[in-house]
Amino acid sequence: MQNQFQTPNSKLLILMMGPPGAGKGTQAAELIKKFSIPQISTGDMFRAAVKEGTELGKKAKACMDAGTLVPDEVTVGIVRERLAKDDCKNGFILDGFPRTVEQADALSKILEELEMKLTRVLNIHVPAEDLIERAVGRRICKTCGATYHVKFNPTKSEGICDKCGGELYQRADDNEETMKTRLTTYENSTRPLIEYYQKVGIYTEVDGRQPINKVTEDLVNVLSSVKN
Ligand SMILES: [Zn+2]
Repeated sequence: MQNQFQTPNSKLLILMMGPPGAGKGTQAAELIKKFSIPQISTGDMFRAAVKEGTELGKKAKACMDAGTLVPDEVTVGIVRERLAKDDCKNGFILDGFPRTVEQADALSKILEELEMKLTRVLNIHVPAEDLIERAVGRRICKTCGATYHVKFNPTKSEGICDKCGGELYQRADDNEETMKTRLTTYENSTRPLIEYYQKVGIYTEVDGRQPINKVTEDLVNVLSSVKN
């Protein structure tokens, strides 16, 4: 696909946010395809650094083995090494970092060193009650893992997978109480970050209740109107 962003002067540096179940992963995958930029998630970064056996990777592994939190300076160092790699030169989608205002400050310093600047912070917004309804109605096939929803994407015959005839089940954590707790935790931890990026003036919220392709369209439109 033609890509108007792939010139050295117009990098697309995106930070994606969204509560659990809002479809962030799906949307990130679409943007990766569309703009040919990598998605950089904290988990992947850590695993790669540990596997490559870098100094920081060793430090991170020691913490993970001991079951302690990886210190900020190690996380930030790993992010710095990752963003300096060649595949990031046209941009990237950050996912899961920064998680705190301190990390956001660290990120802006890293980007300054690399002569980069965040293009946009995109938040896929879905109200809590919709996320709870999505989770509570979710059903998964025991055999092939296909996902359904009792209201939004029901199977032809109740409790039976359309694809393979397997039996459907409901995940234990797809219940109202667990979802409420997760969403409250998420909201409390991300609110300061949202305020931080609102002040910087690069924060945009997209309505995640729309059909998947419409959400993608909105995200692409936002990115097309703001280039570095
Ligand atoms: Zn199935």
